[in-house]
Amino acid sequence: MQDHTDFYAAGSWQPSQSGTTVEVVNPYTEQVLGTAPEADAKDVDAAVAAAREAFDDTGWADSPDERADCLDRFADVLDRRTDEITRLISSEMGMPVSLCRQANVQYATSMIRYYAGLARDSRDPEHRERLFGPGSVAVHHRPYGVAALLAPWNYPLVLTANKLAPALASGCTAVVKPAPETSLSGLLLGELADEAGLPPGTVNIVTGGGTTGELLVRHQDVDTVAFTGSTATGRRIGAICGESLTPCSLELGGKSAAIVLPDADLDEVVAALAFLSFGNAGQTCFGMSRILVHRSRYAELVDRMAALADGQTLGDPLDEATTVGPVVSARQRDSIEGMLSRAVTDGARVVAGGGRPGTQHRGYFVAPTVLADIDNSWEIAQQEVFGPVVALIPCAGEAEAVALANDSAYGLAGSVWTRDPGRGARIAERVHTGTFGINGYLPDFGAPFGGVKASGFGRDYGLEAMDAYRYAKTVFHPAAQEHTAHTSTDTKETRS
Ligand code: NAD
Repeated sequence: MQDHTDFYAAGSWQPSQSGTTVEVVNPYTEQVLGTAPEADAKDVDAAVAAAREAFDDTGWADSPDERADCLDRFADVLDRRTDEITRLISSEMGMPVSLCRQANVQYATSMIRYYAGLARDSRDPEHRERLFGPGSVAVHHRPYGVAALLAPWNYPLVLTANKLAPALASGCTAVVKPAPETSLSGLLLGELADEAGLPPGTVNIVTGGGTTGELLVRHQDVDTVAFTGSTATGRRIGAICGESLTPCSLELGGKSAAIVLPDADLDEVVAALAFLSFGNAGQTCFGMSRILVHRSRYAELVDRMAALADGQTLGDPLDEATTVGPVVSARQRDSIEGMLSRAVTDGARVVAGGGRPGTQHRGYFVAPTVLADIDNSWEIAQQEVFGPVVALIPCAGEAEAVALANDSAYGLAGSVWTRDPGRGARIAERVHTGTFGINGYLPDFGAPFGGVKASGFGRDYGLEAMDAYRYAKTVFHPAAQEHTAHTSTDTKETRS
């Protein structure tokens, strides 16, 4: 049992004032793994004040090399402690260690090093010729200040790192609020920040649920908010930030479609969908939960997806052989089961899974499930399930497939499967999503990732992620001062 009574602020562990805690339950053993403070207004105040002081008083915003070095050291610590972090996250939320090691820890370290590189190689400011009048302009990028970073539980470390790294690289300081389900690994970040020698106050961590998160989002000393989570919570945070005019980036849910055309290589399709539909027990925001299949290949793909689902190895997330672990909580399992039963009432044909697997006698498992003959208007095709469930929808051709893919409130991801690259590229342009794959799908840290429509706005990854943490500031240089201004900036750039 890990029982935490402290939160992390100003580089030290501080006792929570709240007197209440959140429980972290291991979804495989169904036992309590530990507790963490449910931070109240005083705790949140202390964490934000620490971030404020570190931003206002330490020169952090103007030290890109120091920030880059800190990020590199942070990545080194993650590398050193990979196994411990992997096992903790797998125990908290059920992701099999084989996936967790790569998708949480290794991806996080690579990403942190990528943003260290961007901070180090920054060419700020950029000088431009004026379009009108004499002189020139310099476009600087300045950090907003204190960033509130709110993460979900489904890939807890990498979805925290994808905010923390660009926030720090941009010159912000941060207050992180992990999801309650993964509070223990969230707090471990404080220990890692200490070990990496991050300056006090640059990273602060408060634990708790929605109430704590909302205290943080509403805090008057928070200058920018970056959130990944459900669309319902995102709408609420967007409304709060709209009122206070706090910039925010919202990475929300999805209901992504894989379009399978008559000339698709079904071996490739099925190999990719093993992860894209069932990986992390289907709890992946960009997961392909709708498969739109041309009628000529429909029966064949239904059979192959059923075999894929039945062939998964369910079991202990800490076992290297496990491919599908339990879902995160009893509540999540109940929600998935409710959607499955309503899908059957609507007319779904269950060709694999359909409920709790007979092979597992404990843990919040849902068997990998394939539902055939789905109509795109049904709940199972319109709402995010966030479980190991795919809906197969037959369609007549390219135009209908594109129309069905776009007939969704969401717009996060999608893919097309065809041997004709030109056709694939054409379809990629017509599906209204923030990301799309042709004969494969995997986000890349160097390229923006995010959604449109109910999947939110703002971008993680790539240089674009830094837009959530810094703003463009234009400084006008009249012709007479131009030379001096350029010279002094060049000197600073040479130093950094
Ligand atoms: P959630 O919305 O319940 O919670 C996300 C975070 O917000 C948690 O830290 C939670 O404590 C906090 N929170 C809840 N209510 C809040 C409030 N009123 N104010 C401030 N913070 C609040 O989501 P979840 O269940 O943790 O995560 C699953 C969801 O995340 C799914 O919908 C999934 O699609 C989405 N997701 C999106 C992406 C993406 O990049 N687009 C990535 C991963 C997950």
